[in-house]
Amino acid sequence: MLAPHPDDEVFGCGGCASLYARAGAVVHPYVLTDGGGYLTGPQRESVVALRREESQRAAAILGTQAPVFGPWQDRRLGEQTTLAHELSQKISNLQAEVVFAPSLWEVHPDHRATAWAVLQAVQSLVHDGRPAPTVAFYEVGAPLRPNHLVDISPVLEVKRAAMAAFASQLAQQRYDIHITALNTFRTYALPPDIDAAEALIVVPAVGVASWLSSYGDLARGPGLAEVTEAALRRRVGGRPAANHRHAFAGKGSASRGRPRAGRRHLTARGRARPDASGARGRAEPC
Ligand SMILES: [Zn+2]
Repeated sequence: MLAPHPDDEVFGCGGCASLYARAGAVVHPYVLTDGGGYLTGPQRESVVALRREESQRAAAILGTQAPVFGPWQDRRLGEQTTLAHELSQKISNLQAEVVFAPSLWEVHPDHRATAWAVLQAVQSLVHDGRPAPTVAFYEVGAPLRPNHLVDISPVLEVKRAAMAAFASQLAQQRYDIHITALNTFRTYALPPDIDAAEALIVVPAVGVASWLSSYGDLARGPGLAEVTEAALRRRVGGRPAANHRHAFAGKGSASRGRPRAGRRHLTARGRARPDASGARGRAEPC
């Protein structure tokens, strides 16, 4: 279970993880970055430690293995040329049968970098004739056009409790509300006694190449974030609306999305909230 940041493994596929664990599968959360945002020095260290504790608490609630934390920095995954190789090694070492990862259409550049890296890792395993896992893309910051819906009603309260473990992140933004709404909406096409579902795009290892050829045009072009930002620029006369600037910072545009000290931002409901670039640790979408 790959998470670019500490919390994605729960928001994106915590229900699936809990169901797998209940079924007797061994579930390994691998959190790739430190989640330290743009912080530096001791402040970064304390935020990183706190976020890791939160992931550890959430894993205990979900019933997975304790998370392992990768060596990479927040918002730097796209620069890591060895990420795919490292993931293929990890997958082989764990003999993973299924790998969960955020999708190619996610807003956050680390999420998209993870998606690309896992596809490259699986393709290289297939190419080398080694055991390769099924890929299951989950949704966090951008809804998918899924090919699987997983009923997570039996573990809905478990997922809620695990999401609540991320107090530092929920203080910035009510991700739990967003994810609960998304999981509720995913029951739209399901029987009425299902309370929540997680949506996935599931791609078998041997199907990755053909899947990429059919989804490739969108995936290889500008990311959804850039497309959306371009539309916003047109709408507001050459620059994105201030309260959207963070949410639509795209790949390769780290400085554009970087919070400025002392700025205040509007929430979706129009209420001002303090700039989150300080001790709270992260002003980016998860
Ligand atoms: Zn994230």
